[in-house]
Amino acid sequence: MDAGGGRSAVVLDTTAFHPVDTAWPDQPADRGVLRAGATSVEVVDAVVAATQGDGLLLGPDVPVRTGTEGWTFVVAHLVDGTPFAVGDEVSVEVDAEHRAALSAGHTACHLASLALDAALADAWSKPVPTDALGAPAFDSLAIQSSRIVPDGSRDVYRIGKSLRRKGFDPGALDDPAAVAARADALLAEWIATEAPVRVEAPGETLAARRSWVCALPGAEARIPCGGTHVSSLRELRSATVALAVESVEGGLELVMTTTAVRA
Ligand SMILES: [Zn+2]
Repeated sequence: MDAGGGRSAVVLDTTAFHPVDTAWPDQPADRGVLRAGATSVEVVDAVVAATQGDGLLLGPDVPVRTGTEGWTFVVAHLVDGTPFAVGDEVSVEVDAEHRAALSAGHTACHLASLALDAALADAWSKPVPTDALGAPAFDSLAIQSSRIVPDGSRDVYRIGKSLRRKGFDPGALDDPAAVAARADALLAEWIATEAPVRVEAPGETLAARRSWVCALPGAEARIPCGGTHVSSLRELRSATVALAVESVEGGLELVMTTTAVRA
């Protein structure tokens, strides 16, 4: 299908390619190539595409969340030109090193969110929803954006009036280095367990609601997630966070930069 800008969107019956999701674009698309016979083309982007039966909408043009009933979701591999014809047998080759770096970054991101919640557990004066390990869910209550990068992630949190009303004391972030040190200690403890990590999916389709599952000390952590991950914490040597707090209108912005080192 013509994707505009001299590009076409290639849709296959099945693919190993991880696309970027439109509604929650945390993990970027895989890199790699598509091959058919002697033709080999680089995939310049991979997005979620959706159809209700007639016509395919791409990426930001999809008006519904991935998984919405009545829609079919597929991966659109964007390539320059029109290298393939309908019916061609195409093989997919994913850049394994790039994927491994994103998977390490994504697992570290989940661990860091849980470690941050735990490190800020004493900052709450009222009961609030809890995270997968039972700590007040700072991450899910305050998150603005989350971006996975190779071997790391960048999460942005907003501490405004609504979080304060829920009982969060912004004074808990007066010493971000101390909070980061508490989170880092937990991350080191968890990674030392070499716990297995798995992605549970109720089905094979792109729309299936997947969960990241990791047996951490004390509880099995389970987080809804459509990304890719390492298969064991043994694949990580370390994960550490850096926290930066800035005053913004109406409150504070906290940026957590997570760095993973693969074993
Ligand atoms: Zn995730």
